[in-house]
Amino acid sequence: MSECLFCKIASGKIPSEKVAESEKLFAFRDINPQAPTHILIIPKKHIENNLSLKDEDKELIGEVHLLANQIAMKEGIDKSGFRLVTNNGSNAGQAVFHIHFHLLGGRIMLWPPG
Ligand code: AMP
Ligand code: ZN
Repeated sequence: MSECLFCKIASGKIPSEKVAESEKLFAFRDINPQAPTHILIIPKKHIENNLSLKDEDKELIGEVHLLANQIAMKEGIDKSGFRLVTNNGSNAGQAVFHIHFHLLGGRIMLWPPG
């Protein structure tokens, strides 16, 4: 997995604008933000996407959601609202095949998404 972009970001080999880090997770600002707050939360461990999750990852994914809440509070978007999105596969527009959760907020968002 030495070629994976997000593995390299999580290990600091490729620079990013870090927002938060824990033992198992890394969060950084999206390079092409789609909202005033657009942060990516990733596990440090390489997992391709949602379909690749195993039983042993249950707690890890729970931690992603709890970290998203902490970041939302820090960014001041907890009360106004935010979206936590993971794109799985080509129809959903997944471009980077290391699971990541987009934390989006700071503007009104439409539903259904495009
Ligand atoms: P997805 O389409 O769900 O796979 O999202 C991939 C996201 O990664 C996109 O929103 C990109 O803007 C973002 N991205 C790609 N390269 C970088 C990078 N080097 N640093 C931060 N975000 C990136
Ligand atoms: Zn990776």
